[in-house]
Amino acid sequence: ICWSVRGGWHRPRVQPYGPITLDPAAAVLHYGQEIFEGIKAYRHADGSVHTFRPDQNARRLQRSARRLALPELPEEYFLQSLRELIAVDGEWVPSGDDQSLYLRPFMFAKEAFLGVRPAQKVAYYLIASPAGAYFKGGVQPVSIWLSEDYARAGKGGTGAAKTGGNYAASLLPQAEAYEQGCDQVVFLDQDGNVEELGGMNVIFVYKDGTLVTPQSPSILEGITRESILQLARDRGHKVEGRHVSLAEWRDGVASGDIVEVFACGTAAVVTPIGTLKGKDFIDEQPSGTLALSLREELTDIQYGRRDDRHGWLVRLDA
Ligand code: PMP
Repeated sequence: ICWSVRGGWHRPRVQPYGPITLDPAAAVLHYGQEIFEGIKAYRHADGSVHTFRPDQNARRLQRSARRLALPELPEEYFLQSLRELIAVDGEWVPSGDDQSLYLRPFMFAKEAFLGVRPAQKVAYYLIASPAGAYFKGGVQPVSIWLSEDYARAGKGGTGAAKTGGNYAASLLPQAEAYEQGCDQVVFLDQDGNVEELGGMNVIFVYKDGTLVTPQSPSILEGITRESILQLARDRGHKVEGRHVSLAEWRDGVASGDIVEVFACGTAAVVTPIGTLKGKDFIDEQPSGTLALSLREELTDIQYGRRDDRHGWLVRLDA
């Protein structure tokens, strides 16, 4: 589905999947003026199709739009795009454990000019792809490479926006992580505080049951993280968003104050962190049961197996 804007959103249309024609001078190709979202559609046992907290994705897309000097897509248009896609392609929502239709809304500047200024001509698209289980044969702990030479976002930069440039900046450190035999990269901010992984947020569990997650203006505010923390609060856990230095992480693990470390995001939902590897150390991470139990509760809600007490689900096929 595609909308374009020039003085107001117009011409929403569903078109067959295929290449997009762009002028070689299109602003997005030169200045990276683009934003996106990631959200899933789940098929419930009765066949109905639901998505999870789309209002949050719509609002994050609007915040990203502001930062990238793109026009904001009204929340109702965002929802309409999800519904229209399911109306034509709903049969692509798979059924089964951990199966989903991954939805990728994105917006980019297509105006052709070579000066550096915000574009006036913009397009919003939504594409989708069936996604199988992220982990084959059960959730596996991941190994994390500490990126010390590279950052994904700088102070006052675009870290809090979901824009391609942040991901472009993370490709080289992610490749470094693979070379080091690790699955994922973790970034620190300029002050040595833990930020997030390339595509997931981080949560620490302390031995008194408190969940701590890094807070900084350059973190991408994950919807999974926010939801997991809400479920933890519902169970009586204390939750803190604050700076977490690398020293606090490493010392906390060494002393036993930190009893679990996990990552979360739409793709993998929740995954325990098994090891943290830096240039001159490898720290085994403690493993516990809280992360997996919160994961189960969240996926039970998403797949309609448990009461949606927070009203997080939105039905897309009716
Ligand atoms: N951080 C980054 C950099 C991400 O790309 C993602 C995935 N969107 C997340 C965190 C987790 O966000 P969410 O839970 O909304 O998927």
